Amino acid sequence: MEYSEIMVRYGELSTKGKNKKDFIRQLGHNVRDVLSGFDGIEVLAQHDRLHVLLHGQAAEPVMDALSKVFGIETFSPVVRLDKDATIEELQQTAVQMISDQFEEGQTFKVSTNRQNKAYPLNTYGVDNGIGGYVLDNIDGINVKMKNPDIELRVDVRLTGIYLSSVTIQGALGLPVGTGGRATMMLSGGIDSPVAAYMGMKRGVKIDMIHFFSPPYTSQQALAKAKDLTAKLTAFGGTIDFIEVPFTKVQEDIKEKVPEGYLMTIQRRMMLRLAAAITLDRHCNGVFTGESLGQVASQTIESMRVINEVTSLPVLRPLLSFDKTEIIKIARDIDTYDLSIMPFEDCCTIFTPPSPKTKPDLDKTLKFEKNIDVEGLMKDALEGIKVTKIHVGDDYLNAQKDVFAELL
Ligand code: ATP
Ligand code: MG
Repeated sequence: MEYSEIMVRYGELSTKGKNKKDFIRQLGHNVRDVLSGFDGIEVLAQHDRLHVLLHGQAAEPVMDALSKVFGIETFSPVVRLDKDATIEELQQTAVQMISDQFEEGQTFKVSTNRQNKAYPLNTYGVDNGIGGYVLDNIDGINVKMKNPDIELRVDVRLTGIYLSSVTIQGALGLPVGTGGRATMMLSGGIDSPVAAYMGMKRGVKIDMIHFFSPPYTSQQALAKAKDLTAKLTAFGGTIDFIEVPFTKVQEDIKEKVPEGYLMTIQRRMMLRLAAAITLDRHCNGVFTGESLGQVASQTIESMRVINEVTSLPVLRPLLSFDKTEIIKIARDIDTYDLSIMPFEDCCTIFTPPSPKTKPDLDKTLKFEKNIDVEGLMKDALEGIKVTKIHVGDDYLNAQKDVFAELL
């Protein structure tokens, strides 16, 4: 079946007025961004539905991409016929469409909705005209009015007649960008991409902050964090990736702070830098991938001492998740295989064998006086680099290509 468009139904549209307009405009923008790799596709975001006009593109890959975009309730591949199409034309298309999905023993019904009152047949006429023809032309199919296996919807509108027989569940949530802006502390690990995904689901536009420590961490580790970001663009489009040089901070802390407090003070510096970037970019909170009790820095006592450096909300969507639950989502959103690639992380390299699980705030403040907090922050902030990451970007493979050329 060659479909002419995908019809998209909006998700949580409980909000009214201007919010609804923003929701639709933002979803239209995000869908265009996510589908930008497909040639010739047109996206019309209208008040009741969003239409993705295929102009000859195959429907399947476009639907695959659409199924990940937040803010979509359901969608259907649709064939559009002329608004004056005859009942014979409707019958032909209906039989072809249903045959494509029909399995032995299945039932169907036709549901017509007629907005174009000038169309010569009424709802009953269209239902019966198509229903009878399908019964005569598909062997073994039966009509069932309540809960049929296949429901053929026929929308008779002023702009055309639309036929569809499949409804696919969308990603739900809110369009990314309708829920404010925040930053995300994104490592190369399993947890933080999952936490980012969960923030995005509630409509938050997220800028990724990644700390890296060359030469202790490699270009591959950085490329991996960028590729994780590229995976996350599937849910709402282009994402800003902010890399923050962290080597000097870590070396200084390692030299001047007692071993038990290395991790705590290092985390405080990370969060301080993240908070400064957050405010600078007019964002309103910082997401992390922390989960309570998972490691030494993620006890409630540690969180308190680390969190003390900022009054911004620090949002932890994974707070009460088990690792196995997090891994399941990571697999679902296709970040897991990348996350487990064994590149060094800036934290693990400088993590002492036994960090304090219950750091003391007074001691932390005392040891922190050994380092030049302001100076280190200034240097790190001067060294940040921002990259826009787009759907389909692939940094690890691009690097491989460059490397191959050098050989
Ligand atoms: P993840 O799987 O997200 O790396 P984790 O279980 O390894 O988490 P930690 O290494 O303690 O836990 O990191 C806790 C959180 O701190 C991460 O989820 C992330 O939000 C942030 N973080 C850690 N390392 C970095 C980094 N290099 N750049 C940015 N944020 C980081
Ligand atoms: Mg980690």
